[in-house]
Amino acid sequence: MADTTLMSIPGQIDPVPVARDITPRADGRIDLIGLPKDRIRELFAEAGLDAKQAKLRAKQVFHWLYHRGVTDFAAMTDIAKTMRPWLAERFYIGRPDVVEAQHSTDGTRKWLLRTSDGHEFEMVFIPDADRGTLCVSSQVGCTLNCRFCHTGTMKLVRNLTPGEIVGQVLLARDSLGEWPKGSMAGLDEVEDSAEYTSDGRLLTNIVMMGMGEPLYNFDNVKGALKLVMDGDGLALSKRRITLSTSGVVPAMARCGEEIGVNLAVSLHAVTKEIRDEIVPLNKKYGIEELLQACADYPGASNARRITFEYVMLKDKNDSDEHAHELVRLLKQYDLPAKVNLIPFNPWPGAAYECSTPERVKRFSEIVFEHGISAPVRTPRGRDIDAACGQLKTAAEKKSRAQRDRETAAAEATEAAAG
Ligand code: SAH
Ligand code: SF4
Repeated sequence: MADTTLMSIPGQIDPVPVARDITPRADGRIDLIGLPKDRIRELFAEAGLDAKQAKLRAKQVFHWLYHRGVTDFAAMTDIAKTMRPWLAERFYIGRPDVVEAQHSTDGTRKWLLRTSDGHEFEMVFIPDADRGTLCVSSQVGCTLNCRFCHTGTMKLVRNLTPGEIVGQVLLARDSLGEWPKGSMAGLDEVEDSAEYTSDGRLLTNIVMMGMGEPLYNFDNVKGALKLVMDGDGLALSKRRITLSTSGVVPAMARCGEEIGVNLAVSLHAVTKEIRDEIVPLNKKYGIEELLQACADYPGASNARRITFEYVMLKDKNDSDEHAHELVRLLKQYDLPAKVNLIPFNPWPGAAYECSTPERVKRFSEIVFEHGISAPVRTPRGRDIDAACGQLKTAAEKKSRAQRDRETAAAEATEAAAG
């Protein structure tokens, strides 16, 4: 089933072979999710439609896939009835499989997902009063073993494909019941009527902060985010999308130029010694080089600041001196910066502890006193291991039977809740 073409992922460790982005299905049908509109058009033409038809059908199908979220060609009511089975015989509309869905007491939701070739990864939804943020994974595992990150203890299994990345967003909208409702028959007439409503806006923001280093899977992340931003589909603004990198300097300019989303940088330390220890990629791309790349980031401005993430590790990177040095560095490079202080989220076997609340508060005050915003991020979903750095498909260790029991119980609860 899986494509045997392999490619290597550059990283700290030896390149890892992974399956390429198009994985033909066992039944020979091609999954359209993750493909650009032009590619869909080409495939329709290769399957026998003339150029004009292929273009029209690609446009219609794209709208159904990304604007309406349908997973069945039979529901595409503006496409001729005879054409729908023709499409269904040749093409497919996929979603990652849901292995397990969990709800935190604070409203955070986490899904354990599985690729069609059996690899597990996670996605998290964090609702807030004024927004809802989906935390999306880019890889199964990560090649960069940051010492405080649970995902970093996993071996990289493979890059996620564009379809598996955008598939997380589609699945989240399915689960949140957020697709526009109403009939598409005579769309032009109903588009503005009450029948056709884009109800709620639970999912408003996307952060590429799940499992993996997105800039080591550049092309697939770019392909997926282009689909997320496409005005004919999900149409999420690039201002509502943030990509977090541990500091893959050579890919940062491309990220700004070719994707154009907001940038977050996992800085976490202000001295070479400490950053080398906790973010080993620092040995390859040091702090100065990283901050220079931030200063050069296309699109960064005072209106669109770069977020510097800083995980608070007790007696490691949390002193007053560290806070002052952080301010000095950000000013030296004249960075339009905001700092996000992340209390360390513990996981079994971690070598660090979280700084005390007083220490975090003082650190935040020092940075703030120098005119740089430095809020403390409230950990979300800790009870279900959904907080930053806790993602590690822990469920893989559970027995099949236990997982099935939990899924059945969760479904029963959801059904009971209506
Ligand atoms: N690989 C990317 C994005 C995923 S990690 C990156 O490293 O930026 C998302 C954020 O969570 C990063 O800032 C990461 O450093 C942070 N993080 C990882 N483990 C953590 C932990 N145990 N507690 C708090 N934050 C953590
Ligand atoms: Fe990978 Fe980011 Fe975790 Fe580092 S913090 S190991 S780059 S996922």
